[in-house]
Amino acid sequence: MPCIFCQIIKKKIPTEIIYEDKKYIVFKDINPRAPIHVLIMPKKHIVSLAEAANKDKALISGLMWQAKILAEKLKIDKSGYKLILNCGREAGQIVGHIHLHLLGGGDYKNWGIYQHSKEGKILSKAFKI
Ligand code: AMP
Ligand code: ZN
Repeated sequence: MPCIFCQIIKKKIPTEIIYEDKKYIVFKDINPRAPIHVLIMPKKHIVSLAEAANKDKALISGLMWQAKILAEKLKIDKSGYKLILNCGREAGQIVGHIHLHLLGGGDYKNWGIYQHSKEGKILSKAFKI
């Protein structure tokens, strides 16, 4: 099956693109978990951070910078925002095309992944990003 994000990049699947240049694309997440929830990714098909090659170093590092610039454009740089990158099965990565989630527009300081006791027991749950 073709990669859904590559299909979006090729404009074969419509979506709300909010930024695009030669190397990167940013569009709104179809299932937003915050008032602002966008996905930032390289146009090049790289499955995950774990699968990124040495030659992709600059492209992958640039993702973080894209997030910084985008947060300024979206005017959430002062209020704050969260960046999430799911890598692989146990992190629950669903789409095998590396992407950074940028979430903002709400107060998320007490919001994250599962909280564990020292023994590894789950104390509280949060939904998956
Ligand atoms: P992850 O679990 O990190 O792989 O995240 C994949 C994200 O892609 C999820 O938050 C989905 O809601 C989002 N998603 C899946 N299909 C689409 C689509 N067609 N347009 C925009 N976002 C999508
Ligand atoms: Zn892809």
